[in-house]
Amino acid sequence: MIETDVLIVGGSLVGLSAATFLSWHGVKTLSVERHHGTAIHPRAGHFHLRTLEVLRSVGLEARVPNERCVAFVHSAIGLPGVKVEIEDIAAWRAVAEVAGRFTQGRVFLVGDAAHTMPPMGGFGGNTGVQDTHNLAWKMALVLKGLAGPDLLATYDSERQPVGELAIQQAYSRYVLRVVPERGKEGMQPLVDDLSMEIGYRYHSPAIVSEAGTGLALYEDPRRSKATPGTRAPHVPLQRDGARISTLDLFGKNFCVLAGANGAAYCNAARDAAAGLGLPLDPHRVAGGENVSDPDGRFADEYGLSDSGAVIVRPDGFVAWRAKDGRHASAVTMSAVLRSLLCRDEQAQASIRGLTNSMQSPHLA
Ligand SMILES: Cc1cc2nc3c(=O)[nH]c(=O)nc-3n(C[C@H](O)[C@H](O)[C@H](O)COP(=O)(O)OP(=O)(O)OC[C@H]3O[C@@H](n4cnc5c(N)ncnc54)[C@H](O)[C@@H]3O)c2cc1C
Repeated sequence: MIETDVLIVGGSLVGLSAATFLSWHGVKTLSVERHHGTAIHPRAGHFHLRTLEVLRSVGLEARVPNERCVAFVHSAIGLPGVKVEIEDIAAWRAVAEVAGRFTQGRVFLVGDAAHTMPPMGGFGGNTGVQDTHNLAWKMALVLKGLAGPDLLATYDSERQPVGELAIQQAYSRYVLRVVPERGKEGMQPLVDDLSMEIGYRYHSPAIVSEAGTGLALYEDPRRSKATPGTRAPHVPLQRDGARISTLDLFGKNFCVLAGANGAAYCNAARDAAAGLGLPLDPHRVAGGENVSDPDGRFADEYGLSDSGAVIVRPDGFVAWRAKDGRHASAVTMSAVLRSLLCRDEQAQASIRGLTNSMQSPHLA
């Protein structure tokens, strides 16, 4: 008998992404695929910004050689005079369907198994890759005994609404671009591409939402300013003399980004994480430090004062934010981390209380 921690059924785009993300987190996987060879029907002509970010975060950027990219472009544009021979015609059917829930017991639906949509907008594969990116770090922490099993339930709370939004938007684009004669009845108004790609927002116990920030499922990412539940924004930084992005700090571990006077958060988070056995990367974003902010944009883009801090999850989403230094204690950081990791209900209740107390007007 073959034993594995995670069995992945289907070895196409999303199944193989799941294997990549899980092995990045050190989780043993086994993929099974019913076909013998690679796919003959190219179905992913357009990858979103977010998918490229998450693939880059596990080191796939360097693996596509330039010559191959050039060959892709040549084949896509077609040079005048080049003889074209049709070798095959592959049919596909447009459907817009989403599973009501993505999790049942120890089974997790990802990719087209969870949501199948018309290709207009290029949402299908992108949503699938991002499903597995959301799930992989949670599985890794639960399998390593560092998070409670309830963390896995947040996969459904976070990704099912995103899948539903994607099918609605793919359907709207399909109607408008391909079958306008069908009419707009039952069609959702279009959401702009940038909000769809990097503006979606999670609401779950793995996020400490701030009171008064609403329950919107998406928003303009240029305005979200690191609101918990949103993708942590890109800010150009410098590390050891080299230009980097905030995004380069995320990927494997929870990360704390503190303002120039937020060293207390880094120390408190370091102590709290050590107590929980959790790997965590604290960074004070300050001039002259290991990580500096040459353009002085960090605090504003992250909605912080100089003494504030955010906790960013391994998938690059903001999990918690303290706009100033009042909560920089190891006790608070430990309670926040235990709550985010679904380690115990008591921590979650105490964090809900803390969050409400953090909404005092001068923090807004
Ligand atoms: C014309 C077209 C254009 C598209 N363009 C884009 C685009 O530009 N961008 C984008 O993001 N998406 C695009 N998509 C959507 C994208 O192709 C799919 O969303 C993506 O391939 C889904 O990947 P998946 O791995 O979840 O599912 P699939 O690609 O369907 O793979 C599932 C795999 O599981 C295998 N399998 C099934 N049952 C079993 C079993 N019981 N045991 C073992 N193996 C099994 C199957 O053989 C298959 O290999 C397009 C789709 C179409 C049709």
